[in-house]
Amino acid sequence: MTRIAIVGVAGRMGRTLVNAIEQAADATLAGGIVEPGSSLVGADIGELAGVGKRGVVAVDSLAAIVDDFDVLIDFTAPQVTLANLAFCAEHGKRMVIGTTGMNDEELATLDSYRDTVAMVFAPNMSVGVNLTLKLLETAAKALGDEGYDIEVIESHHRHKVDAPSGTAIKMGEVVAESLGRTLKEHGVFERVGQCGPRTDKEIGFATVRAGDIVGEHTVMFATEGERIEITHKASSRMTFAKGAVRAARWVASQPHGRYDMQDVLALN
Ligand code: NAD
Repeated sequence: MTRIAIVGVAGRMGRTLVNAIEQAADATLAGGIVEPGSSLVGADIGELAGVGKRGVVAVDSLAAIVDDFDVLIDFTAPQVTLANLAFCAEHGKRMVIGTTGMNDEELATLDSYRDTVAMVFAPNMSVGVNLTLKLLETAAKALGDEGYDIEVIESHHRHKVDAPSGTAIKMGEVVAESLGRTLKEHGVFERVGQCGPRTDKEIGFATVRAGDIVGEHTVMFATEGERIEITHKASSRMTFAKGAVRAARWVASQPHGRYDMQDVLALN
């Protein structure tokens, strides 16, 4: 039985994760952490997530539940996640990290823990998206050097704070790597005004923010005469939460290292 604590338990993903743990046979809800000073400290996590009282109350520090959990699932914000990584390294805990929007420096800090923590870090935990990454690799290898323009379009709800989404960037990276390109050199994240015609090798990104869209991604391979679109649409956060719980159960028995969902799902 894997004992899982959730940081950011009052958030959109946090509450969904409580539901996903409830449905998992071999995982148990061991704790929930809310923002320091939150009025939710002391609230029953089950009630918070709408599954009924579970006798586990929200706390505002990891230290308060250090002996209660094996794996921490963190869907919060970059600086919060990095502070939690330091805690987990010090106390021999494992982590599943879904937080997106890290800059290069924050990613380097995260990576520096690969020898001291067993962690799964993925911008998208859904099985469907991770399979889609494999399909993109195949498509890019077949089409990318044959005059097909590649564009990544993503849509999310109005509350999302980072853009383009971590999943869109990951999709772009997979395509770029398959073609020996890099997003640093070939990624185009903004087109406005007299920006001129597109160049052959650029990989363009476009972002939509509207309403309650859970998450939609399309990678377009377009040439004169035809267009191929590979699309993934998430209709519920449960798909991410189930993937995260699966990752938590998997990482519970892994040695120190930085893993992604391709490792968890054995797609590598
Ligand atoms: P949200 O704003 O609803 O939830 C974040 C929660 O973290 C909030 O409740 C906030 O109070 C809490 N928090 C902030 N600082 C904290 C601290 N110091 N200690 C404890 N809790 C703290 O956001 P969300 O929609 O749940 O998304 C969270 C993150 O997860 C984002 O980066 C988002 O892009 C990412 N995300 C990833 C996936 C994936 O599959 N990897 C899927 C969906 C969302």
